[in-house]
Amino acid sequence: MKQQPLSLLEKLYVTEVAKGLALTTRHFFSNFSRHLMRSVGFKVDKGETVTIQYPEERRPYARRLRTRHRLTKRADGTPRCVACMMCETVCPARCIHIIAGEHPDPNIEKAPRVFDIDMGVCVFCGFCVEACPEDAIRMDTGIVELASYTREGMIYHMDQLLQ
Ligand code: SF4
Ligand code: SF4
Repeated sequence: MKQQPLSLLEKLYVTEVAKGLALTTRHFFSNFSRHLMRSVGFKVDKGETVTIQYPEERRPYARRLRTRHRLTKRADGTPRCVACMMCETVCPARCIHIIAGEHPDPNIEKAPRVFDIDMGVCVFCGFCVEACPEDAIRMDTGIVELASYTREGMIYHMDQLLQ
């Protein structure tokens, strides 16, 4: 799409800033007056603005919401993952890093020695869960707070993913 050139008034920016402020002020007063009228018993048919006092108050999440990953375990507590690399291969963000090792049980070919997911890069598409043939990875922890002060802090290792 061709970009429209700015008019002289737009180039001055002052009018655009004033317009933005006017819009915000209008919303503030209209919401404030609606809340005020409701608080004294008047019914206002317009939809209300809702403020959630996060994190004390939270909206219920949808059951299908994809949240932080977890690795599922066998009955003996070891990861179900067989290090087949399907999830690592399918991941569009290339944020899964697995190093395979031998499993002590001769009936199981491999197990992950390293299983890292970089949550700072993950796009929460769920492809890894879909691709897994062992139901070894799920995104049903309900954990959505994944902030960290460092990039390294966003990398979740196997011990964290197994918790
Ligand atoms: S949810 Fe998507 S982006 Fe995130 S680790 Fe799984 S496949 Fe990769
Ligand atoms: S697809 Fe499943 S079994 Fe294969 S490496 Fe990923 S988590 Fe492990």
